[in-house]
Amino acid sequence: MPNDSRYKSLLERKLRECEDTISKNSIETAFLFDQHGELIFEKKGNSGTVRFSKKELSQMHGNILTHNHSYNILLATYGIHSVFSESDLHLAYNQKPCEIRMVIGDERHSFQWTHANKVDANHFLKQLLGIEAGAEAAHKKIDARLYAQKYKTHEEYLIAEYTTIKKYADRAIKFFDDNSNIGYIFKKEVV
Ligand SMILES: [Zn+2]
Repeated sequence: MPNDSRYKSLLERKLRECEDTISKNSIETAFLFDQHGELIFEKKGNSGTVRFSKKELSQMHGNILTHNHSYNILLATYGIHSVFSESDLHLAYNQKPCEIRMVIGDERHSFQWTHANKVDANHFLKQLLGIEAGAEAAHKKIDARLYAQKYKTHEEYLIAEYTTIKKYADRAIKFFDDNSNIGYIFKKEVV
């Protein structure tokens, strides 16, 4: 394959192949690979999440989990991205996959704990939770305006919605950049 040289390993190539098939989906799908590039499982979810069974969670340790966040063309038009969710990071901490990845549109994100201890990780998750709580409160206000029919068009509502997503996603990405001393590697790549 002509693109082989672009990727460090078979694993990376397989991850990218899977990610490219789901990056523009409106429902979430997850793939778990072992470090040799063998697929352990594929699991489909809904537009907001993929739910894992106890058995699937127990298979994650030391392996590589990738998934997509639901893609919306309008969101992409406004250049608005997504970040790892709180449950992604809890999963990264509790199940200890060696890497958790997420794609949306032309963005690829990767998160790996390095030397985080429990205190640091809890501190990290709590702070990030604060950002998520702010996003949720802002969404509620936007929805309240929608139900009060204060938006003239559906697009006007979506713009308000997406502006909020962008604001909090930017804040979360800045948080990742500012707190890497806690013991993790966060990478974002735009394809
Ligand atoms: Zn996620």
